[in-house]
Amino acid sequence: MEIIEKQTGAAFKLEKGKLLKVIDPMGEQVSDMVLFNANDTREKISSGKTMDFEESILITKANYIWSNRSNKMMEILEDTNGRNDFLLAPCSPETFKIMYKNTDYHPSCFENLYSNLKRFDIEPDDIPTAFNIFMNVQFDKFGKITVEPPTSKAGDYILFEAKMDLFVGLTACSAEDSNGGSFKPIHYEILD
Ligand SMILES: [Zn+2]
Repeated sequence: MEIIEKQTGAAFKLEKGKLLKVIDPMGEQVSDMVLFNANDTREKISSGKTMDFEESILITKANYIWSNRSNKMMEILEDTNGRNDFLLAPCSPETFKIMYKNTDYHPSCFENLYSNLKRFDIEPDDIPTAFNIFMNVQFDKFGKITVEPPTSKAGDYILFEAKMDLFVGLTACSAEDSNGGSFKPIHYEILD
């Protein structure tokens, strides 16, 4: 098992057919995930294609995650919490300036994704909207959204199967409002 320390990230290769288990070890912690085709990194995870083909904005067990080229990248085999977000972009330095009025340096998923994915030749502008595991975004009938604390409890996990060779970027999210006001680690495992 691998540990992503609080407010940090990781990147790794995940071969087709392998399983990725992402665990919230303490509860109420979001993990942003982005995916790239390891054989052509111009192909990447697509929120829009996934919501379109899965006919839902709430993506969970039995759903697929699709690419910008309309190929299946992952299947969700298990999801013990069952609430994830695919609407919002990774938190970035600007998130903390614009939404938190914070002028000091603040760690962010965006920085943690592009800095870890750099060794796979992924650049900051390549980072798409992430699949935000355990993130609890609520919306009303007018479309107004609010970010609520995750409903995940200690030990909740989501299990993915890779449908192509992937480069994966994964974080322990750094945004106060997304994580119930405190920062915790994320654990992950690659399984056969
Ligand atoms: Zn974040």
